[in-house]
Amino acid sequence: RYQVQVMPVREDKEVRGVTVVLFDVTDRELAEQMRREFTANVSHELKTPLHAISGYAELMHSGVVREEDIHHFSGKIYHEAQRTIRLVEDIISLSHLDESPEDLEFTEVHLLETAKDVSVHLAEKASERDIEIVADGEDAVMEGNPSLLTTIITNLADNAVKYGRSGGLVRIRVEDDNDSVHLTVKDNGIGIPKEDQKRIFERFYRVDKSHSRDVGGTGLGLSIVKHGVLLHHGTISLQSEVGKGTEIRITFPKKQTEE
Ligand code: ADP
Repeated sequence: RYQVQVMPVREDKEVRGVTVVLFDVTDRELAEQMRREFTANVSHELKTPLHAISGYAELMHSGVVREEDIHHFSGKIYHEAQRTIRLVEDIISLSHLDESPEDLEFTEVHLLETAKDVSVHLAEKASERDIEIVADGEDAVMEGNPSLLTTIITNLADNAVKYGRSGGLVRIRVEDDNDSVHLTVKDNGIGIPKEDQKRIFERFYRVDKSHSRDVGGTGLGLSIVKHGVLLHHGTISLQSEVGKGTEIRITFPKKQTEE
């Protein structure tokens, strides 16, 4: 899309012609449209758990809930409140990455150690579903932001657990390759249909909204991953087959600054 500005060209007070200036406003309009959509989505996503919390609390307050059901209802309120907190945390992370990427501090990061920390943390959460989490690979060191790299691995591994099968396996692998480092997170879970694969990195895009809700998703995990990878000048590839599993592979350059 273009914005047009027309200015008369005068000579001795007489109009001799016009100057037409075309401004390409496609990017600006796209950015504006994305911002509007994001705000609408955030409002909608926040409303859902807040309405649920308000509804359950109202029922309890009105006294119609039987004594033996109080545990169940308060559990629902807790669950929805946790969901709201996760959503707000994800929105804050994204807005930090959007607004002030220059604040990110880069240091030396031992990626396998980071992956191991994440896997230990996640294994505690996943143990009830009996998922085995393995972090292995080479001794790879890269320049990066430690907390963002932890978030990237956590979000990927978290998805591998959430969309994995009971008794399944989640493998986080780190490989050293000359000037780059590869990070692969693989599961043998439900997989992602072909037609959705292109869109899952978009904000709030979910293959199955209610399944994502049930497993505690916010729809923002992979967009944070993508943003974080781009800020590390990395690339992402995805391989997935429904019923078989998913593999997400990221390649980071070891050095962030060019010589
Ligand atoms: P969510 O919070 O819903 O998990 P994400 O942005 O992390 O949001 O992922 C977007 C969607 O991509 C998920 O809702 C899910 O449908 C799909 N997805 C992501 N990772 C996997 C995976 N490992 N296996 C199957 N589906 C996945």
